[in-house]
Amino acid sequence: MTIRIDDSTRTIQMGVGDLVRLINPSETFRTGSSQFAAHWGQQAHKRLYGEAALNKRSTEVHVSHSLALGEYSAVITGRIDLIVEAADKTIVQEIKTVAAPGQTLEAATEDSLPSFRDQLRLYLYLLECSGYKNLHGELVVVSLMDGSIARIPVTYDLGAVYLLIRSVLLGVVREHEQSTARKDYRRSLAKRIGFPHEEARRYQEEAAASVRNALETRNNLLLSAPTGVGKTAAVLAPALRFALENDLRIFWASGKSSHQEIVATTLRLILPPDAQISALFLMAKEKLCPNELFSCEEHLCRYSQEYSARSNQAAVKALLQQQLILPEDVIRVARENDTCPFELSLQAASNADFIVGDYNYVFDPKSSLRRLLPPKNRRGWILIIDEAHNLYSRARGYFSPSISVEDMQEASRAAGESHVAPDGVLSLLDEVKTYVSEIGGARPSERQNQFIVEIDKNFFRAIGGRTKEILSDYFLARLRAGMETGEDPLARCLTDIDTFCTMSALEGDFAFLFDSTAALLKQVCLDPSLQIGKIINSFFSVIAVSATLEPHRFFQDVLGFPADETIAASFPSPFHRENRKIVIVPNVSTTYRDRTRTAPGVAHILQEISVIKPGNYAAFFPSYAYLRLIATHLQDFCGNLVIQKETLQKSDIVEMVRVLRERRSTNLILAVQGGSLAEGVDYSDNLLDGIFIVGVGLPELSLENELLKAHFDEKYSAGFQYAYLYPGMMRVIQSAGRLIRSADDIGFIILIGRRYATPAYNSLLPRDWYRYSIEELIASDAAAEVRAFWDSL
Ligand code: SF4
Repeated sequence: MTIRIDDSTRTIQMGVGDLVRLINPSETFRTGSSQFAAHWGQQAHKRLYGEAALNKRSTEVHVSHSLALGEYSAVITGRIDLIVEAADKTIVQEIKTVAAPGQTLEAATEDSLPSFRDQLRLYLYLLECSGYKNLHGELVVVSLMDGSIARIPVTYDLGAVYLLIRSVLLGVVREHEQSTARKDYRRSLAKRIGFPHEEARRYQEEAAASVRNALETRNNLLLSAPTGVGKTAAVLAPALRFALENDLRIFWASGKSSHQEIVATTLRLILPPDAQISALFLMAKEKLCPNELFSCEEHLCRYSQEYSARSNQAAVKALLQQQLILPEDVIRVARENDTCPFELSLQAASNADFIVGDYNYVFDPKSSLRRLLPPKNRRGWILIIDEAHNLYSRARGYFSPSISVEDMQEASRAAGESHVAPDGVLSLLDEVKTYVSEIGGARPSERQNQFIVEIDKNFFRAIGGRTKEILSDYFLARLRAGMETGEDPLARCLTDIDTFCTMSALEGDFAFLFDSTAALLKQVCLDPSLQIGKIINSFFSVIAVSATLEPHRFFQDVLGFPADETIAASFPSPFHRENRKIVIVPNVSTTYRDRTRTAPGVAHILQEISVIKPGNYAAFFPSYAYLRLIATHLQDFCGNLVIQKETLQKSDIVEMVRVLRERRSTNLILAVQGGSLAEGVDYSDNLLDGIFIVGVGLPELSLENELLKAHFDEKYSAGFQYAYLYPGMMRVIQSAGRLIRSADDIGFIILIGRRYATPAYNSLLPRDWYRYSIEELIASDAAAEVRAFWDSL
């Protein structure tokens, strides 16, 4: 339980576990493979409880005691594992499991296990206060390595324990009073949080007001604002002010680290230099880890072993004295204190006012930080979702697991060769493999590589339980054999089966399909709104922000924002309309079947317009195939062609930007809509003079997308829009957004394709792209329009 203090009645409620954590800060006796530690602990409890039942002992005994403490009173509760009544005494037992061999445990004393010792002493105290007499404490410590049991007597003195409890509780009261003072400090600090710039940008104040309004009315907000409005500051400043005024904390969830840098820069600008608050930037464990071998098992990582035994309070305090705690700070302080940087960052994060981290920490069921953001505490947090248009596809990915026959074959081979493979693993893999293969055998026709299947959820429910047991046994066996418990084909495959079983039992909108090319059974998340909506609903308020969050209704629906508690706000571009020429070329068909025929015409438009003025241009296509097709018609291009590779390294982007900055010749980038050159690169300082958007990057026609279409047809009568049109147009607008990055940028956007002349598509273009009517953009001679635009400047 968490410590609860009621100021009106001056009562403190806490569990024995809370007291133990306060007595031994950062003392958490770890068992290495933490994902199974609880399971192994439960198994040991079950076994010993079973024996206790045979011997008529009391198990899981609840105790509670009330204690006066000046103006306060404290109620302490706990649950004792076992009480054994003997003729002349009462033995109180506490069962623990540890990843240490029996030999080590034999030498252990109560003082080598201080957390366990103190926990038991507190139980003894509570029992004696409830009238028990002649109590004897005994730690029953089970070795995970060999199953042996050590019984360690625990001494106890009523008066000493009372004094210990009293001093801890006085500390709790003191901290509570300090935290009340801190609330006052935070409230006064709120008044000093301003905008980062002396003058707010155009629409920035309105955007900030919409954030403030959403928070004050305790609503969620879908905020759509293009580049230039200064979204980060418009969200950050009012959200931080509101959080400080109302004793809330902020989690800024972002899909890309480049956006996190913008948050850091903005925070530096808006925080008064003397502000005593901290913002912590989380980084993935494997990126922070200093070890060559990334494995957090106690026997493989000394930091993992020693973390529990060391108080990192000083290191945490050192970090929390900084306003911005960046990953490099965590790495440095961890190195100075010889400790695990990830654990240190989590420890510091639990006291930080503001946390910045990937979406996964909030939304991914496999990596969400429940320790940092426990569902019941999220009401104390404001969640900001940056570049929120990316969350929908990420969220679908979280809930779309798959299992493949090939992986199961490889896992079976690995199990056959392993001397620690648990009993039953081969038959389990065989059963699942047979089940999946049989499903695949129902292929309706040779031409269909993918087809919809029905799965027997009861089968996966039963398999899920067995997989968990086997996976746990396998990890334990590897631990006992001193092997790494992480990645290997068997562990990976069992984990995939376990995930599949868990996910297939979820409530929600899912379909299942079989891919016979890869012999793979996949769960397709059609709509993550139920799962994501639950998370969104657990926060005080959620502010979702992006340049392309329209139609709002679409994002509200697919992300599960509650309609009656969600406000939407949109803002136009703040830049001068005259700096940008937007033209629709309607007389070229870019649909799939016409592409070969019209490719020379498209290439001609790119060539003709790029030569009007030497410069840097980018053409964004719906697919690599289309890009390559057009490239074949641009072999005589007058300048330098930069063609996006399917696997793009960071160094490729750096090189491309260098070439663009040099401006030695006319450069034309050929890239795909939705790719990193269309969404991940900031072409600042007028790096681009013009953008061609060739066709609409609609998601490809596939069984999966057709399933989405059918689902959204049934749910909202908007299948094509939700499955194809909105995601496609979002890519178009994101690509177009690369052109104007600041008030001084100038250039053109040319939309090529008949679709742009139809209301279904062009009604989704931003309203600030034209003055009165979309017809203003439709041109019969795009080259002439562009020439006139350049001449007019
Ligand atoms: S130092 Fe690395 S391997 Fe060790 S516990 Fe930390 S993250 Fe895990």
